[in-house]
Amino acid sequence: MSVTMTEERGKTPETESAQEFTDGFHLLIDALQANDLNTIYGVPGIPITDFGRLAQAAGMRVLSFRHEQHAGNAAAIAGYLTKKPGLCLTVSAPGFLNGLTALSNATTNCFPMILMSGSSEREVVDLQQGDYEEMDQLAIAKPLCKAAFRILHAQDIGIGVARAIRAAVSGRPGGVYLDLPAKLFGQVMDAQAGAQSIVKVIDPAPAQLPGPDAVARALNVIKAAKRPLIILGKGAAYAQADELIKSFVEASGIPYLPMSMAKGLLPDDHPQSAGAARSLALKESDVVIMIGARLNWLLSHGKGKSWGEPGSKQFVQIDIEPREMDSNVEIAAPLVGDIKSVVSALMIDMGDSWPQPPSEWLNAVKEKRDTNLAKMAAKLQSNTVTPMDFHVALGALKIIMRERPETILVNEGANTLDFARSIIDVYKPRKRLDVGTWGIMGIGMGAAVAAAVETGNPVLAVEGDSAFGFSGMEIETICRYNLPVCIVVFNNNGIYRGTDVNPTGGDDVAPTVFVKNARYDMMMMAFGGHGVTANTRDELTTAVNEALDSGKPTLINAVIDENAGTESGRIGNLNPQSVVSKNKS
Ligand code: ADP
Ligand code: MG
Repeated sequence: MSVTMTEERGKTPETESAQEFTDGFHLLIDALQANDLNTIYGVPGIPITDFGRLAQAAGMRVLSFRHEQHAGNAAAIAGYLTKKPGLCLTVSAPGFLNGLTALSNATTNCFPMILMSGSSEREVVDLQQGDYEEMDQLAIAKPLCKAAFRILHAQDIGIGVARAIRAAVSGRPGGVYLDLPAKLFGQVMDAQAGAQSIVKVIDPAPAQLPGPDAVARALNVIKAAKRPLIILGKGAAYAQADELIKSFVEASGIPYLPMSMAKGLLPDDHPQSAGAARSLALKESDVVIMIGARLNWLLSHGKGKSWGEPGSKQFVQIDIEPREMDSNVEIAAPLVGDIKSVVSALMIDMGDSWPQPPSEWLNAVKEKRDTNLAKMAAKLQSNTVTPMDFHVALGALKIIMRERPETILVNEGANTLDFARSIIDVYKPRKRLDVGTWGIMGIGMGAAVAAAVETGNPVLAVEGDSAFGFSGMEIETICRYNLPVCIVVFNNNGIYRGTDVNPTGGDDVAPTVFVKNARYDMMMMAFGGHGVTANTRDELTTAVNEALDSGKPTLINAVIDENAGTESGRIGNLNPQSVVSKNKS
C-alpha cells in the first residue's frame, strides 16, 4: 500500500519523477497480511484508532471488544485453535495492562498470541516527564511473556513482526509483546524499500525430531509396563495431530486420561477412556506416558497420595520444551520434540508389534469406569428437581453436546466447571475451552467470540454466575457481530452457593452472595440478543436447542438451587480456612 507524493501535491509525474511512499500504519498491515494474520481482536483508542480503521479498510477482520482482557483472551484462543499467533491490539498504559493479563495467561497455557500495544514517546517515557499514559510497557511485559520487542523505525516493522511470529509459535508456544510507539505509525518511507522490508516467515514452527536413542529408551519402558496409562494434555490437542494420536492410543491398547482441554481428542465415550476411573488410573498405573501435558498442580505434581506408593511409577514424557522434563518428578524417558514427530517415531519403531496391556489392568480400569458412570447417570435424569441442581442442568447439556458434537463448549466457574468437566462428554478435538492452567475466571466471553469467529461453529458457553460477571459486558460484542453463541448462566445467587449470611447481622450481604434471582437473560435482551429464563431441565433443553438451531446470540438464565454448590468446587483444599474463627463461632 502506498501513495504517490507528487500526485498528492497536484504535480504531474512529468514535472517531477513519481516517488511512492508508505508509512508505519501500512507497513504493519502489510507485514501481518503477508503472514496470513488477518484477524485482530482489540479495543480502539489513542494511538491505534486509525490503525484499526486502516486494517479494516485493507480487508482485515478487526473485532472491537469492551475490555482488553477479553480481546486478549480471544486472541489467545484464536492462537490455540489455529496454531497461528492470535493478535490483540490495545492502547497504551491501562489498555496495555488490561491486555497483559491475557498475554500472561496465554503464555502460561502455551497459546501463541501477540499483544500489540501503542505506547508513548520513548524520549518522554525514559526521562519520566509525564507523557499521556506514560509507562515503560516493554520492561513491564518482559517477565510476563515469552518474548517482548519494541519497533522504533518503520523499516524494522517487517523484521519486528517476523520475530514476534517466530517467538510465539516456535518451540513451546506462548505470548509475545510488541511495543509500538505512537510516532512509529506516522513514519514515512519509500514504498519500494518498504515492500522489500516485509518478511514472510518461512516454516515458523519447525518440526523438532526426537533422537533415536530417546525413542528406543521410551519404547523399552513402555514395553515393560504392566499397568500403563496415557495422559493427553492440551499440548496434544494444540498439535493438530489428531489421527496420529488416535492411532497411537488404539494401537497400544493403553487406557488414556484426557486433561480437560484434551477431551474430545478421542471421543469421551471411547472404550479406552479412563476419564471416569481417574483416581484408580493415576494411583495404580506403573508407567505413565504424558503427551503434551504437564505434571503441575492439575496432576498433583506427579506425586503424593493420588499417585500411589512413592517410586511405584515411571514416566515417559513427550514435550517440545526440554526444561519441562524433571520439573516435578524424575522422567525415566524424556521425549523432547513436537508431538507429531515424536508419536510418528514411536509408531514407526514399534510397527505391528505393540504388546497389549495385561487384561487384569484393562478390566480393573473398565470396571471402575462403568461403575462410576452408572452412579453418575442416575443423578442426571430428573426433570422434577426444581430448582435444578448442577447434575440435572448439566445432564440436559450433556445430551445436547452428544447430539451436536461440532459445538464448541466454553466452560468456567467453580462448581459449574468441575461438574461440567466430568459430566459433559466431548466428541471432537479442540471442542472444549476452559479456565486452563491457572484455573482463572474471566475467559468465557473472549473464548466464545474467538471460537465462533475462527471456526464458524456454534458455541455453547456454560458459565457460573460469578465467572460470567468477569466478561459479561462482552455479550454486547457477541450481539454486535451476531455470533452463534449460546450462553447458559448457572445462576445460584452467588459464588459457590448463594446461602452465606453476614454473621454480624449487618446490612451488607456475605461476600460470596449476589443479588438474588438476578435476570441475566435481560442483559442480553438489552443488546438485541435473545434472553430466556429456564427453571426446569426441559425448559433448559428447549431453550439451548432453539438457540443452537437459530444461531442467534442467546443467554439462558438457568435457575440453580442456591444450596447446591460446594466451596471452591473440587479445589476447596486450596482455599485456606481459619481455624481460629471456626473455634470462635
Ligand atoms: P494440560 O493442562 O492439558 O495438562 P499443559 O498446558 O499443562 O496441558 O501442557 C501442555 C504441554 O504441551 C506443554 O508442556 C507444552 O510445552 C507442550 N506442547 C505444546 N505444543 C506442543 C507440540 N506441538 N509438541 C510437543 N509439545 C507441545
Ligand atoms: Mg454461582
